[in-house]
Amino acid sequence: MSFTTLGLSPNILKALAEQNYTQPYPIQQEAIPAILNRKDILGIAQTGSGKTASYVLPILMNLSLHATVSSKNRHVKVLVLVPTRELAVQVKEVFQKFSSSFTERIKTIAVFGGVSINPQMLDLQNVSVLVATPGRLLELVESNAVHLSDIETLVLDEADKMLNLGFKEEMNRIFALLPKKRQNLLFSATLSDDVNNIHQIILENPLVIKIEPEVDQIDLINQSAYLVSDEKKGPLLRYIIKSKDLKQVLVFTSSVYSAENVADKLRKNGIDAISIHSKKSQEARTIALSKFKSGNLRVLVATDLMSRGIDIKFLPYVINYELPRSPKDYVHRIGRTGRAESPGEAISLVSPDEQHHFKIIQKKMGKLVPMIDSNELDIKGY
Ligand code: AMP
Repeated sequence: MSFTTLGLSPNILKALAEQNYTQPYPIQQEAIPAILNRKDILGIAQTGSGKTASYVLPILMNLSLHATVSSKNRHVKVLVLVPTRELAVQVKEVFQKFSSSFTERIKTIAVFGGVSINPQMLDLQNVSVLVATPGRLLELVESNAVHLSDIETLVLDEADKMLNLGFKEEMNRIFALLPKKRQNLLFSATLSDDVNNIHQIILENPLVIKIEPEVDQIDLINQSAYLVSDEKKGPLLRYIIKSKDLKQVLVFTSSVYSAENVADKLRKNGIDAISIHSKKSQEARTIALSKFKSGNLRVLVATDLMSRGIDIKFLPYVINYELPRSPKDYVHRIGRTGRAESPGEAISLVSPDEQHHFKIIQKKMGKLVPMIDSNELDIKGY
């Protein structure tokens, strides 16, 4: 199957070829023609499935078919609601990457909380596509900086995460501001009761697309684990990074304190590392992420909150310095590797206290992970 059969215009096909998107992913095969036909979609798919391009491409095409792409000032046509700032920026970038191939000007901006509202207000001129976190969007609506009455397409991306983060009320307030007749596209990694509720309220006769859960993707990832006492985790981490000469590693910790501590110790031992977590400013997070993405930072140490926002095409290594609480989070963490059909490696440092929990994770995942006893390694001096 090639992109040419999906009804996309020549300029998009050219942009896809330039991005080395040779074949549509399954979600794109199904979603693109349906969205072009203005159908509603319920997409059960996670990050890594190619869901972003599956809605960005047809939305851009539909927009370009309008006589005027941006409508009345401060009236946006497409609204994408996302749970986090990181996802907002990522989605905006995909829109911008592909909209540059159109002769029509299709302006996309991202708005989110945690940063000053004024530049966002100023930037909301002649915007066609607005990517927003719910809270900040409502603030902007209340200040009359943006109007939602001309919305033609609403996208809810990572709807389950948005609901888990407690955005339900904000989302309902936003829905009430939208015109009745519109296209609705809902993407979610899981179909929880809350997602089901929203789906029943807003989607009209949707095309349901279900992409196999990440467990399949897990087969792409080489997983291993080390049994190690808590006090030896630091030296073992450095041993792994140095002896395997790892160049780009994402390390997960279970708390902000631990993230800071691990990054600190790595730096003291001559390994370039930065931590990102909820206590860091948005600016610091963005800088760290872009350094890491461009290959100018060897180790990024992150807490779970950050794990969904990190989209790097061929991230080769993920190390769990501490295990996450839920097996689902384990899958999300290691899902950062082995994406886009490139094999990745996920290594977990498991303390004796965590061993039982690790067994549960393996059982839920349906895969056994080989465990190495770190006592067999010579990690002195690391
Ligand atoms: P997403 O699930 O939207 O986060 O996309 C996952 C990753 O796959 C992103 O890095 C995309 O750039 C990439 N991607 C999406 N669709 C394709 C495709 N058809 N061919 C190659 N890469 C793709």
